[in-house]
Amino acid sequence: MSKASTAFNVNRVKRQLEVWLGKDNVSAAEVDKICYSRDAWPLRLIRLGRLVLEYQPDLIVWPQTVEQVQKIVRLANQERIPLIPVSGAGGVAGGTLAVTGGIAVDLKKMNRVLEFDEHSLTVTVEPGILGQELEEYLEIRGYTSGHFPSSIFSSALGGFAATRSAGVLSSKYGKIEDMITGLEVVLPTGDLLRTKAVPRSSMGPDLKQLFIGSEGTYGIITELTLRVMPLPQATKFASFLFPDLTSGISAVKQIFRHDLKPALIRLYDENETRFVLGRFKSPPEGACVLNLMYSATKPLVQLENRMITKICKNTGSEDLGPGPSKHWWENRFDLYYPSSLNMGPGMLYDVLDVAASFANLEKMYWAMREAIEATGVSTMSHFSHFYPDGGNIYVIFIGHAGEPEAVETKYNEVWQVGLEAANQAGGTLSHQHGVGLLKADWMPIEHGASGFALLQAIKSYLDPNNILNPGKLGLGTAPVKQQKGGR
Ligand SMILES: Cc1cc2nc3c(=O)[nH]c(=O)nc-3n(C[C@H](O)[C@H](O)[C@H](O)COP(=O)(O)OP(=O)(O)OC[C@H]3O[C@@H](n4cnc5c(N)ncnc54)[C@H](O)[C@@H]3O)c2cc1C
Repeated sequence: MSKASTAFNVNRVKRQLEVWLGKDNVSAAEVDKICYSRDAWPLRLIRLGRLVLEYQPDLIVWPQTVEQVQKIVRLANQERIPLIPVSGAGGVAGGTLAVTGGIAVDLKKMNRVLEFDEHSLTVTVEPGILGQELEEYLEIRGYTSGHFPSSIFSSALGGFAATRSAGVLSSKYGKIEDMITGLEVVLPTGDLLRTKAVPRSSMGPDLKQLFIGSEGTYGIITELTLRVMPLPQATKFASFLFPDLTSGISAVKQIFRHDLKPALIRLYDENETRFVLGRFKSPPEGACVLNLMYSATKPLVQLENRMITKICKNTGSEDLGPGPSKHWWENRFDLYYPSSLNMGPGMLYDVLDVAASFANLEKMYWAMREAIEATGVSTMSHFSHFYPDGGNIYVIFIGHAGEPEAVETKYNEVWQVGLEAANQAGGTLSHQHGVGLLKADWMPIEHGASGFALLQAIKSYLDPNNILNPGKLGLGTAPVKQQKGGR
């Protein structure tokens, strides 16, 4: 199944698109093609830093209405042209890269709030609105989306939905799939699918969940309705230092077993604890810090604070007061904007984002750490999303390998051994960052042969000409490693 290709008449298609969208909303400029050949996938950024030109679309378009998106999709389907949906281009897995050329459909000009329903506490938006733009719209009205990924300034609602993203306050507010009540999607035929924006339904399978996480391979999301919440009345920070990871995880389990859901709950391993506590304290060897933020009504914040302090003290921790947690919250974007991860020649870095049940979580942490550090790179990790039954691990790796080829070999080796260890420990291979090109080869391993065949069958049914984001999620093309540019 690999029917769409770059063998199309770019000039003729460009002229047609200019008629529909206006000249300003269609580009074949080299500079635009280079800009759209990257997202925030570290390996692509490392390669671009060496001026490796690859994964370029032939055209970039900026539609402003759903009707324009439908026209683009119908034309592409008729002419077998690959289409790559783009919202913020802040994905970290290569999801917006043009594996086989085609048209990048940037939805950033579809960034309006269409309706704010204060009775139902829902907001309906177009896909190109940045997370921060939506948050500002809501906050001046006394509400919050509750969705605070660290990419809130650079990623948009369509991308959040397409990658099943999770914000840093997910314990309280949920992940994007918990927030979305309704979707509008342009299917690969150009037809429109709308799911009803309702609190819940048992009319068969939930169709919106088919598109949440489909990374632009099943349809282009053109409208979303989301739950919102009133801004919290009160906020309080707390930090506790545990003698080791086991006692930290044990406290987190107790917190959930007492039916408590602090907005922020981040447990750092010993390596990242040294980094996080740097300005506050020199922690003893093996110690792990837990940062918390309570955000709710005043009585609930007081209750959470009292009960969680007791749980943490009973689990052998030292109360560090609000300082470390508050400092993290107030400075959490410093690392990203501007990016301090541009580390220079010879360096490699990235993050593995995995998740497992409590039964496997600590085992998975140690297995991954051991496997990754055995390749010669350093790691530091945190657990930033917890559930009553388990949590995620965010394993950051940083290393130096010298020559460009060695950097890429080492980078691929780290991912290979890291994900192998996570898989063997019973974890999922992505908690929040999605698949893109980076994890495409792992999809059959994650879902098993039958599960992956079903995802492929859905793709073939919806998109028989394979025009939508070919190669992403490992769907619709030959294995990614054989594609132009490889990984
Ligand atoms: C500094 C930084 C911090 C981050 N922190 C977090 C975090 O805290 N939590 C988290 O979950 N992620 C995080 N990420 C990852 C990233 O923000 C998410 O993957 C995000 O959901 C991507 O949104 P985007 O708008 O940038 O999507 P894009 O990069 O534009 O697209 C991502 C994928 O979705 C598809 N897509 C985009 N729009 C649509 C649409 N309208 N319809 C169909 N498909 C579409 C694209 O084709 C692509 O496959 C971070 C990234 C960075 C760079």
